[in-house]
Amino acid sequence: MSHTETHAFQTEVNQLLKLMIHALYSNKEIFLRELVSNASDALDKLRFEAVSNDALNEGESELAITVTFDKEVRTINISDNGIGMTRDEVIANIGTIANSGTKKFLENLSGDQAKDSNLIGQFGVGFYSSFIVADEVTLETRKAGDDKAEGTRWISKGEGEFTLETIDKEVKGTSITLHMKEDMDEFLDQFRLKNIISTYSDHINFPIKMVKTEWDEEAKEEKATDELEQVNKATALWTQPKSEITDEEYKNFYQTISHDFNEPLAHVHNRVEGTLEYTSLLYIPKQAPFDLYDRDRRYGLKLYVKRVFIMDDAEHLMPAYLRFVRGVIDSADLPLNVSREILQSNKVVDKIRSASVKRVLGELEKVAKDEDQTRYQGFWEQFGNVLKEGLVEDFANKEKIAKLLRFATTHSGDAQQNVSLQDYIERMGEEQEAIYYIIADTHAAAKGSPHLEMFRKKGIEVLLLSDRIDEWLVSHLDEFEGKKLKSITAADLKELAEEDEQELSEEDKQAREALTEKVKKAIEGSVSDVRITHRLTDSPACVVTAEGDISSHMARMMEQMGQ
Ligand code: ADP
Ligand code: MG
Repeated sequence: MSHTETHAFQTEVNQLLKLMIHALYSNKEIFLRELVSNASDALDKLRFEAVSNDALNEGESELAITVTFDKEVRTINISDNGIGMTRDEVIANIGTIANSGTKKFLENLSGDQAKDSNLIGQFGVGFYSSFIVADEVTLETRKAGDDKAEGTRWISKGEGEFTLETIDKEVKGTSITLHMKEDMDEFLDQFRLKNIISTYSDHINFPIKMVKTEWDEEAKEEKATDELEQVNKATALWTQPKSEITDEEYKNFYQTISHDFNEPLAHVHNRVEGTLEYTSLLYIPKQAPFDLYDRDRRYGLKLYVKRVFIMDDAEHLMPAYLRFVRGVIDSADLPLNVSREILQSNKVVDKIRSASVKRVLGELEKVAKDEDQTRYQGFWEQFGNVLKEGLVEDFANKEKIAKLLRFATTHSGDAQQNVSLQDYIERMGEEQEAIYYIIADTHAAAKGSPHLEMFRKKGIEVLLLSDRIDEWLVSHLDEFEGKKLKSITAADLKELAEEDEQELSEEDKQAREALTEKVKKAIEGSVSDVRITHRLTDSPACVVTAEGDISSHMARMMEQMGQ
């Protein structure tokens, strides 16, 4: 009959497990959130596939999650009648790290526990979180539509290996039994489990059921009955009226969909009715994920069609420069069988996206106007460089995005980027025509540039740019509210030169010419011209670029890239 096969975990899995057990010890109850969320995903998938293939329902009408526990044998069970897994899928999904994001995550670990637990919080720890509380996990599963004899049992103690066995499984879907560690008694308790479910999983779109208990007068304690009762609200949070949702509920929902332990910075929740009908619930996180700049990373929103989950990471619903936004879009106008390809060129999607972008930018504007500047400043530090991409990517919202930019300037001189272009314009003198900036590799280099001398002397504020993307940024932002942006290293700054064209004696003129000739000779081939300048007050010389030339910073960047 069925024989048992032993497999070794990938080494990365072992590494992840060890780390997680330590790092998440103080958040151990999240195991239930993760398992319930997997069960809910499995039900979502079944419901979606059954739309075109009713046989997958196997005659069952209600999709649900059941959570039970047994104090005597110290187990907790989480079951769903969702899509289930084949044996090959079990091997691929559980016990290996197929996901490139997970690999990157592991590469990012520093060994510093505080830092790593923060990282792990941003990363969906998922199924493996069961080993924080359990010393043995048994997973039994059968793919919907498959033969009842083709179930799979997976067992592991989370230490290097797992076993696989083929079993009979009557109901489709997945059942997970955790054998709890000695010191995890607190979870073998109706009240505690119910509480965790209502904290993290109230809004899960399917009923979560537990055994109903009743007060037993004789024994003076709660006793289990034979009945199951639903313990969550099971109404998708975004479908509720705003006035009925508490801040706590918004926060918990964010944490569930983002796997982030932090609270979100802000959220926008809208129901749109009329020619288009959809609901959006969008969150701006406080903290950037470790892989924000990873090009392979999937990003985007969860897409639902009339409450039916369609896909994660629907990247067409948000432009790349807002890839940090998390949330849900639930549309009534898209077909249930919508694919990524369809989303790519769909009028409904385009409209939803452009409205969503406006909402997010509007919300950021609000945060930026807050009396308390720390929130926006925090946002800028985490996501400023990503938002800058929007200036190039999103022509329609250029003006809005430009208002959200923050810079370090000579006004305070410190490295914190907290000056908006509007602040700059308000401070500038009447005769000043342009917004001046300097770009260098580091803030210190920008701040120490001899080009600034003249500006300091005249009391003109200069933006100190030193982020990699800044060169690109200014090449796409040539003006703001009618004021041109100008580099102070460009040669042609006539308006500032005010060359005091006093009469020079013939002697002086000749001396100057002789000097420039000499310098020109000495550095021939490195520069195209040498000129006398009035720009400098303390430094003897500086390099400028001619109008139309690439800047010296860009030239250095291209050199670094081997061009
Ligand atoms: P994630 O949910 O982020 O993909 P998990 O570690 O939580 O990561 O789960 C890994 C994978 O295992 C899931 O993507 C899914 O394919 C599979 N899986 C986990 N739990 C279930 C379940 N209850 N039913 C079906 N598949 C599951
Ligand atoms: Mg999961």
